[in-house]
Amino acid sequence: MAKKYVYSFGGGKADGNEGMKNLLGGKGANLAEMAGHKNLRLPVPPGFTITTEVCAYYYKNGKTYPAGLKGQVSQTVAKVERHMERKFGDRDNPLLVSVRSGSRRSMPGMMETVLNVGLTEVTIPGLIRQSGGNTRFVYDAYRRLIMMYSDVVMEKAAGIEPKDDESGIRRQLEKIMKDMKQAKGYASDTDLTVDDLTRLCALFKGRVKEVLRKDFPDEPSEQLWGAIGAVFASWNGKRAVSYRRIEGIPDEWGTAVTVQTMVFGNMGNDSATGVAFTRNPGNGENRFYGEYLVNAQGEDVVAGIRTPAPINEYSKSEHNKELVTLERGMPKLYKELFEVQNRLERHYRDMQDIEFTIEKGRLFMLQCRVGKRNGPAAVRMAVEMLKEKLITKQAAIMRVTPAQLDELLHPIIDPKAEMTHKPLGRGLPAGPGGATGQAVFSSHDAVAWAGEGKKVILVREETNPEDVEGMRAAQAILTARGGMTSHAALVARGWGKCCIVGCGALHLDYAKKECSVGSATIREGDWITLNGTKGNVYAGKLPMMDATQENKIFNVFLKLCDSIKRLGVRTNAETPEDATKARRFGAEGIGLFRTEHMFYGKGSEEPLFRLRKMIVSKTEAERRKALDELFPYVKKDIKGTLEAMDGLPVVVRLLDPPLHEFVPRDKQKLEQLAKDLNITLDELSKRAEGLHESNPMMGHRGVRLGITYPEISEMQIRAVFEAAAELLKEGRDPYPEIMVPVVCDVKELNDQLAVTERIYAEVLKKYNLKKIKHLFGTMIEIPRASLVAGKLATVARFFSYGTNDMTQMGFGFSRDDIGGFLPDYLKKGILPEDPFQTIDQEGIGELISLGIQRGRKARKDLEVGICGEHGGDPRSVEFCHRVKMDYVSCSPFRVPIARLAAAQAVIKERHTT
Ligand code: PEP
Ligand code: MG
Repeated sequence: MAKKYVYSFGGGKADGNEGMKNLLGGKGANLAEMAGHKNLRLPVPPGFTITTEVCAYYYKNGKTYPAGLKGQVSQTVAKVERHMERKFGDRDNPLLVSVRSGSRRSMPGMMETVLNVGLTEVTIPGLIRQSGGNTRFVYDAYRRLIMMYSDVVMEKAAGIEPKDDESGIRRQLEKIMKDMKQAKGYASDTDLTVDDLTRLCALFKGRVKEVLRKDFPDEPSEQLWGAIGAVFASWNGKRAVSYRRIEGIPDEWGTAVTVQTMVFGNMGNDSATGVAFTRNPGNGENRFYGEYLVNAQGEDVVAGIRTPAPINEYSKSEHNKELVTLERGMPKLYKELFEVQNRLERHYRDMQDIEFTIEKGRLFMLQCRVGKRNGPAAVRMAVEMLKEKLITKQAAIMRVTPAQLDELLHPIIDPKAEMTHKPLGRGLPAGPGGATGQAVFSSHDAVAWAGEGKKVILVREETNPEDVEGMRAAQAILTARGGMTSHAALVARGWGKCCIVGCGALHLDYAKKECSVGSATIREGDWITLNGTKGNVYAGKLPMMDATQENKIFNVFLKLCDSIKRLGVRTNAETPEDATKARRFGAEGIGLFRTEHMFYGKGSEEPLFRLRKMIVSKTEAERRKALDELFPYVKKDIKGTLEAMDGLPVVVRLLDPPLHEFVPRDKQKLEQLAKDLNITLDELSKRAEGLHESNPMMGHRGVRLGITYPEISEMQIRAVFEAAAELLKEGRDPYPEIMVPVVCDVKELNDQLAVTERIYAEVLKKYNLKKIKHLFGTMIEIPRASLVAGKLATVARFFSYGTNDMTQMGFGFSRDDIGGFLPDYLKKGILPEDPFQTIDQEGIGELISLGIQRGRKARKDLEVGICGEHGGDPRSVEFCHRVKMDYVSCSPFRVPIARLAAAQAVIKERHTT
């Protein structure tokens, strides 16, 4: 038998079904399901779908069709004609069709559609008769056909590029119509009379011939094949290609073409067209929601020329509350539609987005698909559909994407407003959510302006620890340089603050307090708005929406996730406040307490001063004195955090960053320090210079500090054990895990273990305790550490993967300088994505799993986690699940996302094994 390229639907039957999306596209498959499934058999105008295989053939064979296609199309057209008792091209009783695109995944508005195909000078009288003598309607349909066809088929599909927007054929025809309306003093399209429209059609045809040098085809089958070809061609149209790049849709999927009997919502006041959702997509409420227009075609609803009316009381808004609802205006049809939407939702077990048309009092279903929804709506629907027993627990968990969950945690830019604004520039989406504020260019100004009650956005070339106060005071942070794990990104994310880094188009002029982005200039005090989830920067003040309220349903949903996830979810936090917040978000412990963070931000002045003293000390005695002064601060912070996490593990990492990062640059601070140390400014500068390193990321940092200055480790370890001892005495249940960073050899660990054991014994004695529950372990963040993990595990009781550094050192890409070249790597497809955002499973992932295997071979009960920024990235979480880590750890605001991703990883694994 010849290969089947054409699948028909209609009259209670269909060749295809919903499961055939790859072949029939989403639209074709759903039409077949609605028309033919025994539980549905809905009033779908009959038609057929030409498969995506034909699209593939079309592109492989110089835009030609496979043999047999034309015959199959003719036969199927004849079938549709029999159902409809109309004939394509017939003068007395013509059949008109729409020709639409439809790929596997919906690409809304990215491809083309041609309506009213089959309408010609010959068939016009027949359609007038069918419409009950509505000549105006028919000429209106004809002018729409000429506009659409000349644009989509004769211009775009023919590859004709108009020299500018205005000279495109569609614009030219629109202008003719506008001029006519103006000349006649009409306000609306509906004022055009039959004579006007007849004349307009003639004018249109004349202009088409003049501009495109071809007659408008007045032959039905030429129109049909022209439209089919144009839809296939639109798969490679500019919009569609860019959309595919963004959404990661493969080029080879191709589109199907659906040819369907036209039904008209614009045949008079007993006709209408509308769009509806089986539940409210804005908040998830289980109420039928939608809008419609009487005497209109679908494109009128989308075009926004007339305000659509609400379908029922529930759908009323400020803008349309005066208009008559479908429920009141056409009660019988509303009832029928209501029943249909109910059946559709029960059948698909998900919220459906439906398009319907009423032609002379008859309801037709034109389309249904799974409806798009925002985050709060997605969570509510998932929980309620589970309660209604419409879906299983697994399905409910899979219904919410991590990005949707994220929407509930941060204020966002009102999506409606965002759609109408073009970004000034783009950067890396480092801290999610939206924010709006006045631009300031220094940390100092950010603090000062915020102090006056202003909302500011701190704009910097890049940030360093001295900017932290300003970062905290600002609503959001925008930097020209830096990658996803740069300082600004890390800190902002930890605070749940909106942040965009690496926005290369920004050029800052600190002296003038302004920056340029392309041709625009942002001056101090100008309002800007950031979308930190997408990385978009906008000029002006866009409205915000609050999606952050503590939400009962949100917690119910996350409990569902917890009930099936295997991975633990901890948080990276270094203050009792963050720890408490993270615990509320469901954190099961702290996976990374970065000791050095207590020297940034609020209340850090005093400990920072003492740390600086310690750093520039020359002798051990000097250093020990400074460390003694520092000790109470460190102990207090650790104790507060252990207390907030009572009963749960807290991984405290020994000091990690290169010391010179903390040397002050500000003269006043240097002078104060010199005075306190009783040395000259000159001497201090010399000591500070001595700390300078050309490659600090690979310099004197991490465990290397503890090797050179054991007293530094000693102080911290004592702080941990004393904090825990005091809590034990207070009847609490502290559980510290001491973690050594930047380790590459087991002997480093042995060295630090000896210090740890010595201090442990001293503290036990001091507090007269027998035991303090704790673990000693290491970070694995240097590739060599993964390779020698077997040896490390003989000493370490736990591993925590520091995938920020592991990525930095595995790729040899500096974390802070990646903004300079990563965009080119992504644009050229050399890397599929930023490896600092999502684990590079092919390379870094191999190092990780190898390390886990070797480590667990040496120590069966080795605890393994991740504390790099990847711990909050859903795909990386899935990877961590697969390589059998015990937990992931991420910033507090990402904890819920990690819980969801961990649960989804279990479900996905079940589906693939
Ligand atoms: C890491 O390297 O992944 C890590 C968590 O440590 P930091 O980001 O502090 O270097
Ligand atoms: Mg690190």
